[in-house]
Amino acid sequence: MPQKYKKILYNAPLKSKKLVILRVETKANEMTTIKNVLPEWQIERLEKMLERARSVVVTCHLSPDGDAIGSSLALCGVLRRLGKYANVVLPDQLPLNLRFIAEEEIRPVVYSMHPNHASVLVERADLVFCLDYNSMHRIDKLAEVIEPCRAPRILIDHHEDPETELFKLWMSYPEMSSTCELVYRIIVQSGWQRHIDRFVARALYLGLMTDTGNFIHDNSENPELYYIVADLLRYDIDKGELYNRAMNTFTENALRLQGHALSKKMELYPDHRVALIVLTAAELEEYDYHKGDTEGLVNRPLSIPGVTWSVFMREDKRCVKVSMRCEKGFRVDTLCARYFNGGGHELAAGGDFFGPMDDAVAVFHRMLAELPAPVACDGDNDEIFEKLNIKTDIDNEGNKDTDTRHGGDSVDAACGM
Ligand code: 5GP
Ligand code: MN
Repeated sequence: MPQKYKKILYNAPLKSKKLVILRVETKANEMTTIKNVLPEWQIERLEKMLERARSVVVTCHLSPDGDAIGSSLALCGVLRRLGKYANVVLPDQLPLNLRFIAEEEIRPVVYSMHPNHASVLVERADLVFCLDYNSMHRIDKLAEVIEPCRAPRILIDHHEDPETELFKLWMSYPEMSSTCELVYRIIVQSGWQRHIDRFVARALYLGLMTDTGNFIHDNSENPELYYIVADLLRYDIDKGELYNRAMNTFTENALRLQGHALSKKMELYPDHRVALIVLTAAELEEYDYHKGDTEGLVNRPLSIPGVTWSVFMREDKRCVKVSMRCEKGFRVDTLCARYFNGGGHELAAGGDFFGPMDDAVAVFHRMLAELPAPVACDGDNDEIFEKLNIKTDIDNEGNKDTDTRHGGDSVDAACGM
């Protein structure tokens, strides 16, 4: 994780062989330094697969966030400039605050609204990219066409434990801040920098910004990230405008809903240092809820001193959507996986509960009962995970004890490449 990067950066003088100096052909024609973290064979494999493809589809997860849509649009933009017939296919519609980016140069095709158009694109594709998700479960009904498609699939993602058997090539980097960071690195390592323009730079910045909470979350500690930001800023992107549109735009109803949630629905459990917010379908209806209206709400209780873990449950049509956030030293991805059919990242995770809200809340209480209280957040939580029999296989530097996490190729990996 970031610590590992720090070590490399701080221990190695800039001109050491450990750092590959990459020339980024910016308008200013300057140099930037980022480490070449993707193995060359992955880049070569990607290029080979692309060479053979004319028609390409880029997909991302359900309820796309800034990273999902930003990485998809950026990759699609670069692929078009490489001469491909490239399109973005989304499982469902974007939240209101992110629609602006999808109304600019590339208009995504939304499967839930235009299933025929989306299906034809996927069926005719020679190559399918899967961005910012690690399993078919994350694309909902779009899986019906992505799973049986004839085209090989390439995974580009930063979530743990991808369903690797589904992909011909997987590029899985959980230690990266965002899929946008990964796409930027792929672009640079593939020598496609000249295809970055303002549209691509804006899309990439959007994902870097939203997945890091505007560069606040712990996943934004790698200093290299700011070289990437520095490069993107050279394309005349207005980061204030992007922040305001994507992260600081709420309707009056949405703001009042969040106010209601915090003032009337937030329950604190001091023994476990956790906060729970539950919003029922009736409450959502009262405030004319739209997708994205509760964005960021789950983070709010973490601003209370002593609250180190936050859970938000929202009663959607098909399930209770669960979101969790925590401070460093604890992890919620394993809890979401164990109790709520979900997963995600150590500090930001989610899941689905299929059943009534009361039952979901009961599972929350069972989870607390099974967690030794108080939940410490100032050290590592091995003891808690041991009691829960949750395998973390993460060492103190946040590195998984296996090298295969960076992905590979379904054939070559089996051959030990
Ligand atoms: P959010 O709370 O913003 O919906 O999601 C936070 C993170 O948790 C997402 O970036 C995603 O990685 C993960 N996540 C959210 N919902 C699910 C889910 O249902 N299943 C899995 N596996 N991960 C999820
Ligand atoms: Mn992401």
